[in-house]
Amino acid sequence: MEQIQVIQHPLVQDRLTRLRDKTTEIGSFREAMGDVAYLLFYEAMRDAPTRDKEIETPLTPYVAKELSPEIVLVAILRAGLGFLDGILEHVPIARVGYLGLKRNPTTLEAESYYMNLPKFAPSDTVVVLDPMLATGHTAVAGLKTLTEAGAKSLHLISLLASPSGIETVVKAFPDIRITVASIDPVLDQRGYIIPGLGDAGDRLYGTLDH
Ligand code: URA
Repeated sequence: MEQIQVIQHPLVQDRLTRLRDKTTEIGSFREAMGDVAYLLFYEAMRDAPTRDKEIETPLTPYVAKELSPEIVLVAILRAGLGFLDGILEHVPIARVGYLGLKRNPTTLEAESYYMNLPKFAPSDTVVVLDPMLATGHTAVAGLKTLTEAGAKSLHLISLLASPSGIETVVKAFPDIRITVASIDPVLDQRGYIIPGLGDAGDRLYGTLDH
């Protein structure tokens, strides 16, 4: 599928290994999540909108490029927050939305519990941050909400994806572009990605004992 890119850059894979390792402690886990988020965003935004800016270098006037403000990041709570900070640090111009979606543990379907989105313009590039693309149900529910709210150009950034999760998303949104660090082969009965990294939200926020 040409709209999927798997980033095998050594820096991405290095952070991914740290995130997969169960001995990685919370601070190091968060740091690696922020790093990898920006590295994936960097690759995903190769065609990001830019605009001209008239500046003066110390030697001459010059028409340069700057990132256009038509970038909206939408974090799927909770784990998407781990991505958001790492990207915003480098792209403070981006507008931000939040979608609270959680999986019903029995049906594995996504249930919405929170939504706060900026107003979308048709020219916006809307980048959805969902680190674990497992069944794809959460991503599809989030993407549906975003298209209903007026989002046109959609990009999904995930750390790990399952083949069936990708298939589910692409079937529902054939024009979407997806950037991931790895496609892991197995989805277990509870909807966990294997080998994966466990529950990303729990590892980010220290709630493993819940
Ligand atoms: N969400 C997670 O945090 N981990 C998985 O493996 C699947 C979904």
